[in-house]
This record gives sequence, structure tokens and C-alpha cells, in this order.
Amino acid sequence: MHELAIAQSIFDTVIREKRARDLDAVDKVGLRIGVLSDVLPDALTFSFDVICQDSELGGCRLDIESVPLTLTCNKCGLSSTTDQVTFLCPSCGDPSVRVDGGFELDIAYIEVPDPLSTDAALQRPAPAES
Ligand SMILES: [Zn+2]
Repeated sequence: MHELAIAQSIFDTVIREKRARDLDAVDKVGLRIGVLSDVLPDALTFSFDVICQDSELGGCRLDIESVPLTLTCNKCGLSSTTDQVTFLCPSCGDPSVRVDGGFELDIAYIEVPDPLSTDAALQRPAPAES
């Protein structure tokens, strides 16, 4: 189950960022996963949740964006995107295509709790009158 290894590597990267930037917590991690990357989003989310449990990233969620396959036809030059795994030009049907996208497995962003969010503000004691 290679999703577990990928989840572990994402976890390690996020922990490193969190410590380097001295963040209190991380709410969400945005991932971009290409359709050719051979990763099952559900399995990855499950593995990540298990790894985060009882760690300093407890409660952190994954937000996975699927990146379509991008092909450029070597014959007619058409550039196209598709969620299908296909290597035929949709215009002329030629199999001679260049793959320009779809292998992505990137961390797109790390979302931290907003210190000025309503909940946090409500929990803050009222300022003392001077
Ligand atoms: Zn073509």
C-alpha cells in the first residue's frame, strides 16, 4: 500500500514546515495529484489521518485536487486535458502525444488556523478597561 509511504512523506514535510515557521497548528494540507500518479485519494486520506492521530498534526485534513492529464499532439499540435487515462489525440486520434501534465504529486498549500477567527476572538478575555 504505497499510499501509506506517500502519506508519511507528506506528514514529514508538513512537520518540517510547521517547525521551521514556528506554527502552532496546521488545519489543512492542499495536495495536487495527477491522474497518472497512481495514488488512490481515499487511501491516502485514510493513511494521513492515521499518521496524524496523536501527533502534533492531530486534526489536520487533506484537501486533494485531482490534476487532469494534459496531452499535446505531435501531429496536429492540439493541447488537451482529460480525466481519462488515454494517450490518443482527441482531435485527430494520433497516438503520438507528449504528456505535459498528470504526474503531479505536490503539496499546493498549508493552511493554518486564523488567529483572528470568530471562535478564537470569542474565547479571548475582554480587554480590561483602563
Ligand atoms: Zn492530433
